[in-house]
Amino acid sequence: MTTTSSDHGSEHPDWTRTGFSTRAIHAGQDPDPTTGAVVPPIHQVSTYKQDGVGGLRGGYEYSRSANPTRTALEEALAAAESGGLDPARGFAFASGLAAEDTLLRAVLRPGDHVVVPDDAYGGTYRLIARVFGPWGVEHTPVDLGDVEAVRAAIRPETRVVWVETPTNPLLGVSDVAALAEVAHDAGALLVVDNTFATPYLQQPLALGADVVVHSTTKYIGGHSDVVGGALVVAAGARLPGGLESPAGGTDVAGAVGFHQNSSGAVAGPFDAWLTLRGLKTLAVRMDRHQANAAAVADFLAGHRAVTAVLYPGLASHPGHDVAARQMRGFGGMVSFRAGSEEKALAVCAQTQVFTLAESLGGVESLIEHPGRMTHGSVAGTSLEVPDDLVRLSVGIEDVTDLVADLEQALA
Ligand SMILES: *Cc1c(COP(=O)(O)O)cnc(C)c1O
Repeated sequence: MTTTSSDHGSEHPDWTRTGFSTRAIHAGQDPDPTTGAVVPPIHQVSTYKQDGVGGLRGGYEYSRSANPTRTALEEALAAAESGGLDPARGFAFASGLAAEDTLLRAVLRPGDHVVVPDDAYGGTYRLIARVFGPWGVEHTPVDLGDVEAVRAAIRPETRVVWVETPTNPLLGVSDVAALAEVAHDAGALLVVDNTFATPYLQQPLALGADVVVHSTTKYIGGHSDVVGGALVVAAGARLPGGLESPAGGTDVAGAVGFHQNSSGAVAGPFDAWLTLRGLKTLAVRMDRHQANAAAVADFLAGHRAVTAVLYPGLASHPGHDVAARQMRGFGGMVSFRAGSEEKALAVCAQTQVFTLAESLGGVESLIEHPGRMTHGSVAGTSLEVPDDLVRLSVGIEDVTDLVADLEQALA
């Protein structure tokens, strides 16, 4: 293993060459050079003493521009997504949607066009259609499972192909490598919302994506106690359509950094610290999440009150083969159809271990009705979800308790 010297003389492996959990636990998180604290401190501070005008220590000047706790998270996230590749750049934000907003402002201009999944996360669709729409950005919803349909939706002004896989809440799967080729043939960026899969199960940059988006609120934070978002930009990603960054140059990372500082929707130090703590245990949590989800999906598939189960791990799922190829496992989210809206709402009201709540990815199991809850923002659009759909975020409790809870709720 190659080793790298840190500033204070100790040596450590080149984290980009280590396994996923080693990177998640160590990259960007060297012990504190002054005290040896093994966890990066919460630098709850807004400004930094300068040694003479412009004499910055470690580049820190003002915490919107950079904060050491946030830097630790940004480096760890970049390492998590880019193991084995040239180092990507990470950026941490106040929420997943703040990350998306900053990215879209950095890479789009009025008159540009975006291809979006026809079952995108409702908040992503609302942002693109209702916030960016009035600023002159057009979009086309497409079934991303159909690569030729994506190619047909591309226009001369297309600058971004937005991918979510698996999707929220229908668990649709799309082929990231094939879509990267389509986007790049058109001179557009391929952006992947990797929230559901997490960097443990799927690494879009290695499949050709230019930018990865996360709601770290979900699995990366993992404990339903912090809202946050992230962007990880591939080394060498260039702005589409000959665009120049206001900061100069044409690299996406430079433009995102400029916009992060200029718009300021950054993650605060305590939020960054909680997210970093979550990231360290991501792999062990995901292993349990997906083992439990597989058992829950099997149980639901055999239940007469359930008309369909949507889980990429089931051989019957249309995206099963692609998911098996591009993911390390099938994740912890399971959706199912209850036959009618009335029955779906009744199941949501009856569970005792699954908590009725929005969000996902925490250690505790959650149940929700997307049509009336998380996806209310797409009602009446082509992204509307079926009214008998129930979404489960399968937690890491004992699986027998989870199955028993669903059994009594369905009865
Ligand atoms: C929750 C979510 C978002 C938005 O993230 P926030 O942290 O809630 O702003 C984006 N994409 C997906 C897939 C999500 O589940």
